[in-house]
Amino acid sequence: MKQPKSDKTQDVYLKRFSRQTVFPGLGVRGQLELSQRSALVAGVGGLGSWTAEYLVRAGIGHLRIADDDTVELSNLHRQAFYTEQDATRRRLKVDAAADRLRAINSHCIIDTFAEKVDPLTIQRAVDTADIILDGTDNYQTRFLINDYAIKHNIPWIFAGVVEAEGQVMSIIPGKTPCLRCVIPSQPSCCAGGNDCCRAGVVGPVVGLISAIQAVEAIKILSGQPQKINTSLVKYNFWENHYQKVDLSGVRSGTPCPCCHEKDFIYLEP
Ligand SMILES: [Zn+2]
Repeated sequence: MKQPKSDKTQDVYLKRFSRQTVFPGLGVRGQLELSQRSALVAGVGGLGSWTAEYLVRAGIGHLRIADDDTVELSNLHRQAFYTEQDATRRRLKVDAAADRLRAINSHCIIDTFAEKVDPLTIQRAVDTADIILDGTDNYQTRFLINDYAIKHNIPWIFAGVVEAEGQVMSIIPGKTPCLRCVIPSQPSCCAGGNDCCRAGVVGPVVGLISAIQAVEAIKILSGQPQKINTSLVKYNFWENHYQKVDLSGVRSGTPCPCCHEKDFIYLEP
């Protein structure tokens, strides 16, 4: 990954992020740490496109984006980066996204993975990423990511949006509950399809949830995992309901098949 090498280059780099390093929670130390870290954004649709943009603007060193889908007109109300021209040309999302991300921050290495993330590809998709960000639209892939992350000790951040509701949970293997501790199996309402095709989604809600996901990622990648929100947070932005689900007792209940029994069934092809 690219990093500021000489003192002069480092000065230029830090000047660029001066409005961020002046925030004492991050500081120069946290910014430099972030510049040396990598992330996989799995899916660059609604959630993933905004999360990718926030991280690249924040100064992450290396971002990998995975998606095998092409841009459609019906994506544009909620997905960053993409234009009517991209939809007309049916461009691969990762190609359109990479162009935009490279234009935003040329110091960040952007690489693309234009395949579906499944049990056969997930190892190549994650590669050496320090964190995995959920930009998916279905629980099958989320459980796959969860099993892979727990098995390989990689932090990941679950996020989902349907209608005007969103939820976020930061998962650090061995330290916090995993997704299967909290949601033991695929919700029946989501079986067999993605979340927002059938229920719809209010565009800005995707950006709001992505912003929370990105802040959680910045805490971990800047070396401050102790600052994460250890609850599952849920928002309904239409009805103005906010809920913080305390997860402190979750792991003391029935042993989780994933993080207790190491039964990684979702990794099986
Ligand atoms: Zn678990």
